[in-house]
Amino acid sequence: LPVGPLRVEFSQPVNLEEVASTNPEVREGGRFAPKDCKALQKVAIIIPFRNREEHLKYWLYYMHPILQRQQLDYGVYVINQDGDEEFNRAKLLNVGFMEALKEYDYECFVFSDVDLIPMDDRNTYKCYSQPRHLSVSMDKFGFRLPYNQYFGGVSALSKEQFTKINGFPNNYWGWGGEDDDIYNR
Ligand code: BGC
Repeated sequence: LPVGPLRVEFSQPVNLEEVASTNPEVREGGRFAPKDCKALQKVAIIIPFRNREEHLKYWLYYMHPILQRQQLDYGVYVINQDGDEEFNRAKLLNVGFMEALKEYDYECFVFSDVDLIPMDDRNTYKCYSQPRHLSVSMDKFGFRLPYNQYFGGVSALSKEQFTKINGFPNNYWGWGGEDDDIYNR
């Protein structure tokens, strides 16, 4: 049910009550499955997180309607890093993979930063025959890849693909590099 190009902007604050009331079919735990058809894939969306409540609200506000139109059987997992130690994005993504699988038989994993929203809902948050980089045209990079091997932001890997590369690295503390390691894997 995609509509194509979307208006995405951040001038008006959004709140969680509004997100809940405008997405009545999203169940507790950020879960949804289409009623009128069988979804092509069961997708877990994993968001590494700490201290970004404003971003998260916008992410939920924009993404739930998009994901429902894409008719995915999906669940959203926000993986919060406790404490003030250096952030470890890739390790949080590994945690998300493990935790999501305890809840449901997901076959596809979309790993997304909390501050990225597609500007066209035909960018389907599902998995393909190869790992796929979904955020290939980001505004902060002038709508092009910063370099050909860039794999950061939002990526989709099937359970099988993720397992084949032994998941993501656990040893990148602080900003940068982990997405390049994932690209190499
Ligand atoms: C870093 C990546 C980062 C990219 C774009 C690279 O130098 O290693 O982690 O995503 O720059 O900012």
